[in-house]
Amino acid sequence: MPDLHERYAKEDELAALILAIFIAARDEAILLLGDPPNARNLTAEFWNRLANDLRETLQAHMLRIYGVAFDRMHRDEFPVIDDQIRDTLAEEWAAQKATQVVIPMIGHTKDLVSKAVQDHEQSVSAATAAIMAAAGLTAIQQAERRRAAIRDANQQLKEQLEGRAFSEERARAIAVTETTGAVTAGEVGFIGELEAAYDGYIESTSIWITERDERVCPLCEPLDGKPGRIWREAWPSGPPRHPICRCHLEWIVFLLPNDRDQNPDEIVVTVA
Ligand SMILES: [Zn+2]
Repeated sequence: MPDLHERYAKEDELAALILAIFIAARDEAILLLGDPPNARNLTAEFWNRLANDLRETLQAHMLRIYGVAFDRMHRDEFPVIDDQIRDTLAEEWAAQKATQVVIPMIGHTKDLVSKAVQDHEQSVSAATAAIMAAAGLTAIQQAERRRAAIRDANQQLKEQLEGRAFSEERARAIAVTETTGAVTAGEVGFIGELEAAYDGYIESTSIWITERDERVCPLCEPLDGKPGRIWREAWPSGPPRHPICRCHLEWIVFLLPNDRDQNPDEIVVTVA
C-alpha cells in the first residue's frame, strides 16, 4: 500500500518531467555528437544545462513532497510547529539534496553516453575490417557496405541513448527513489522539530514498512516491521535503501506526562 496519498500519481508526474528533459537532451546529444560521434563534442554547457534542468525539477518535487510528508505527521496536534518552520526546513533540504543527487546522476549519464559512443566506434571498425577482408568486392561495393554499417551503428547509438542514458526506465527509477527520500526527510524533519519543541517530553520511534508485495527486495525485506534501533544499524538514513525503494516509516510519538508515574500518551503519527 502506498504510504503517501496519491503517491503513484506524484511519482508519475516527476517521471514524466524527467523523461521530457531526457528526450530533449538525447535529441540534442545526437546532433552534438556529430559524425563520426565523439563524446567530447558534448560541451560543458550541454552538461551544465542538463544538470540545472534536472536539479530544478527535482528540487521543486522534493520541496513539495517534503511539505506533504511533514504535514501528514498529525501536525494539527502540535501547533508549536508552524508553516514557516516547515517551509524553511523543506527549502534548505530540497536545495541541498537536489544538488547532491544530480552530481552522480550526470556522472553516470556521461559514462553511459561514452560507452554508447565507444560501442559505435567498435562496431564501425569491426564492420570495416570484415568488408576489407571479404574477397571479390569492388571499391564501390566496399564503400556501400561501409555506409550501411555506419547507418546501422548510428541507429544502434540512438537506441542505446534512448534505452539507457536517457531512458524512461531511468526517469522512473529516479522519480520513485527521490519521492521515497523526500517522504523520509519530511518526517525526520518534523520529528526533529517536535523533539526540539517538546524538549524532554517527547519520545518517538519509527517502524520500517515495506510495500509487502512480491517486489520487495532482499535488502529491505528483513527490515520490515523493525523499529529504529534495528533498522538504523543496517541503514541509518532510512528509506530509500536502494534505487526504486518504496519503503516508508511509521512513526509513533509518545507525549510524556510531567509526572513520570502516569502512562505516556501514545500517538501514531503516520497514516499508512
Ligand atoms: Zn525498500
